[in-house]
Amino acid sequence: MSYVDEVIAQVIEKNPAQPEFHQAVKEVLESLRVVIEADEEKYRKDALLERIVTPERQLLFRVPWVDDKGQVQVNNAFRVQFNSAIGPYKGGLRLHPSVNLGIIKFLGFEQIFKNSLTGLPIGGGKGGSDFDPKGKSDREVMAFCQSFMTELCKYIGADTDVPAGDIGTGAREIGFMYGQYKRIRGLYEGVLTGKGLSYGGSLARTEATGYGLLYLTEEMLKCNGHDIKGKTVCVSGAGNVAIYAIQKAQQLGAKPVTCSDSTGWIYDPEGIDVALLKEVKEVKRARLTEYAAKRPGAEYHEGRGVWTIKCDVALPCATQNELTLDDAKALVANGCIAVAEGANMPTTLDATEYLQANKVLFAPGKAANAGGVATSALEMSQNSERLSWTFEEVDSKLKNIMVNIFHNLDDAAKKYGMEGNYVAGANIAGFLKVADAMQAQGIV
Ligand code: GLU
Repeated sequence: MSYVDEVIAQVIEKNPAQPEFHQAVKEVLESLRVVIEADEEKYRKDALLERIVTPERQLLFRVPWVDDKGQVQVNNAFRVQFNSAIGPYKGGLRLHPSVNLGIIKFLGFEQIFKNSLTGLPIGGGKGGSDFDPKGKSDREVMAFCQSFMTELCKYIGADTDVPAGDIGTGAREIGFMYGQYKRIRGLYEGVLTGKGLSYGGSLARTEATGYGLLYLTEEMLKCNGHDIKGKTVCVSGAGNVAIYAIQKAQQLGAKPVTCSDSTGWIYDPEGIDVALLKEVKEVKRARLTEYAAKRPGAEYHEGRGVWTIKCDVALPCATQNELTLDDAKALVANGCIAVAEGANMPTTLDATEYLQANKVLFAPGKAANAGGVATSALEMSQNSERLSWTFEEVDSKLKNIMVNIFHNLDDAAKKYGMEGNYVAGANIAGFLKVADAMQAQGIV
């Protein structure tokens, strides 16, 4: 059996009931086949692949907190410190009922390669809890965040592990966590990113994932003879990534016509009203029915369905495995030319293969959504030098990073004989830097 197949089989055997982790590992290792096979004995002797698929450290802890009725609640929490070969662990904290160890491991694994692609010195990590901030009072969210950080603070620090936001963890949660870290550790340091602007946050961090997604998509289209201007765009999700993807798409002259949340979706043929969407989602924390109620031309549908709308560009910005083979078929039938992932692994493996086989340009999340974590690394730089850069400075660095990422993928795909396969390009380019650093640092 080839070394790649051996390691895939081992991962499945040693990590039972973690399908998302298996999926992420399979996708990466399949792409690396050409690289590994060129020097298989060396990689095998060093157990390089076994080391890269095994987290350096995994923390599992309980989070007890008291709800508004005086009842004690208990949640499971995780921090997976996956790989620190190229920098301190870096990656978000997901707060969602679906969170379990397998989900955090898939996200942490993806993060290693994503962070490598940014070109910045950040290793891979991820964390979170099955706590659901939805429907909780501010006091309950604070109680959870303080209890969570009381344990987590023992394992993180500005030079060791720097968490940030993800699904369910936004500005409010980061603020509560930062306050508790500072209180216990007595350190005013850049231990979290995505902080508020009044206490060490970076301008443009809020916008960064969505804006970065569009910068990369624009470059990918341009290099393939298309212009983003005038394109109809379908977006899923209505959180931080989707909102700022929609905003930047409009600034670049495209027309985003859809968005979605966990209960339904919007089709707004005139183009999404970003101010209204922000009001509904960021201020009121309400459902998309409220958007439709205030926007006569928009349709609201229960369930899922954004990928049935005819578009040129599809941007899945909600969550993992939200774009299936049937969705991919609908997109191709409707003439879609490009898919770029704003979320982490939103496209299933068979859907990705179908899109690529049908010549749809496909930018994987670990490249396309890297603008968020890249700007987090810029926040770390500003914290270290105790200075704040202007919005324009951060935004122009972000744009450069995204354009460079695209060319790295493109070059790596070409170099290994897979021109236009940006999935392979991303996995190979991300892997080579981490593998080089791991080999240089000996057996650790
Ligand atoms: N959660 C984001 C991601 O998936 C951002 C992580 C960060 O800024 O550290 O990349």
